[in-house]
Amino acid sequence: MCEEGGSEGNSSTKERKVVAVAHCILNQSTRWWFKGETSSLSSGMVKEVVDHLSSLGIGVLQMPCPEFGFYGNPRPSMTKDDYEKASGFKAHCRRVAKGFCNDLEDIKRLGRKPRVKILGIVGVEHSPSCAVEETPRKTNKGTVYRKERGIFMEELEREVRKRDLGIPLIGVNIHSPKDELLRMIKFFKE
Ligand code: SF4
Repeated sequence: MCEEGGSEGNSSTKERKVVAVAHCILNQSTRWWFKGETSSLSSGMVKEVVDHLSSLGIGVLQMPCPEFGFYGNPRPSMTKDDYEKASGFKAHCRRVAKGFCNDLEDIKRLGRKPRVKILGIVGVEHSPSCAVEETPRKTNKGTVYRKERGIFMEELEREVRKRDLGIPLIGVNIHSPKDELLRMIKFFKE
């Protein structure tokens, strides 16, 4: 048993709120890195997002990184088309999504008193795997961002729906996290 403080100090039965976030929001070291180039912000985390959730009293569940779990690093920057062609990657994403949904189900089932409410799943825009609204596609004119989910988010959403978990998805652009905060505040307060 893990217990802290006085008998009533933190024992309120008020509902606890949590969100599930893409792995790299808490750990940038899993982002692609190739020949000294990377899209990672730093070796740390996306502090603005974490601080913001903390200020709202929202806890964080970290999802596995599907790309790092499949390729590790070094790996180059790739589009959704590239990952669709990568043999086994979609199945890997499906496995990871199922495993993570098992965790979400456990939290919902075991978080009885106080109840644990999972407010949402936070993805990363422009990722071929974790984008919620805009994912990179290859065209004759180079890479463009199309209105569609990344491969992992597609699998995760399918699994969330199949199990009737009722958890919405929101994506953040980690390169302009401050601009994303208002959107997140609105999303998580609704
Ligand atoms: S966006 Fe998703 S796949 Fe890409 S580094 Fe972050 S967690 Fe991994």
